[in-house]
Amino acid sequence: MLDYHLHLWPHGTRSEAPTLEQLATYCEHAAAHGVSEIALTEHLFRFAQAADVLSGFWADDPSPQLQQTMAAYWDEHAHADLDAYVAAVVDAKAAGLPVVLGLEVDYYPGRMDKVRRLLEGYPFDVLLGSVHWLGAWGFDDYEHPVVAAEWDSRAVESVWDDYTTALEELAASETVDVLAHPDLCKVTGRRPGTPDEFYDRMAEAAARTGMAAELSSAGWRKPVGEEYPAPPLLMRFKHHGVPMTTASDAHDATTVAHRAADLKAVLEAAGYDSLQAYRARTPHEVPL
Ligand SMILES: [Zn+2]
Ligand SMILES: [Zn+2]
Repeated sequence: MLDYHLHLWPHGTRSEAPTLEQLATYCEHAAAHGVSEIALTEHLFRFAQAADVLSGFWADDPSPQLQQTMAAYWDEHAHADLDAYVAAVVDAKAAGLPVVLGLEVDYYPGRMDKVRRLLEGYPFDVLLGSVHWLGAWGFDDYEHPVVAAEWDSRAVESVWDDYTTALEELAASETVDVLAHPDLCKVTGRRPGTPDEFYDRMAEAAARTGMAAELSSAGWRKPVGEEYPAPPLLMRFKHHGVPMTTASDAHDATTVAHRAADLKAVLEAAGYDSLQAYRARTPHEVPL
């Protein structure tokens, strides 16, 4: 088993580079749950280097209130040093810990060439691709009052349509390797009466571009109370031959490998017997 989606820092808190001890603790938690390899995949937006090239992307949004909320979010989060993060994970690999170097990369419409240029100088093993934001609306930060009000004012079909379009564009940009929490648009539990069209489009987006997708236990910890992806979407991934990783999306050591055995059972029931792992952005198969 793998845990290919891990953060070092809870949102809005410390952002110093990880120590070897911290990464060793992550590996111990993983091993205790039958997970033999982990990927550190901190958010790109936590790093000052990202702010240098991407800051201000929210200015395209027509809502001044959403712009202001996103600007404040970035101001709070983008302070870590990408070079120190990369060096710490590379050192942990060299010390023999079963870790690979990754990053969780958001979709920045019209700016993915800048993202690619920023990242190509680093020895990443795997890049996750995420849609957390539609314009300046950080829809999965659903407890924020401005974000929550937006959920109440938009039709759920149009949210899912905008999300799916962003996911298709992210995949087509061919900047990242794995679709993270592929149906994150369900995070609050709101979904269209018939989501099939959106599931079709999500699965086809991954299949068309040769991407993998992750099966994540994070959804079990959210209002939706369901793993990402939903069973009908996982079925479509299987049908299209989309390889899978497994993921906890932990933001602290105790959540590492959260419900790994349940994830394994979900994949087995869907007909998967292997996972996709990565070295230097090149995939290889490992047993489930
Ligand atoms: Zn995410
Ligand atoms: Zn994450």
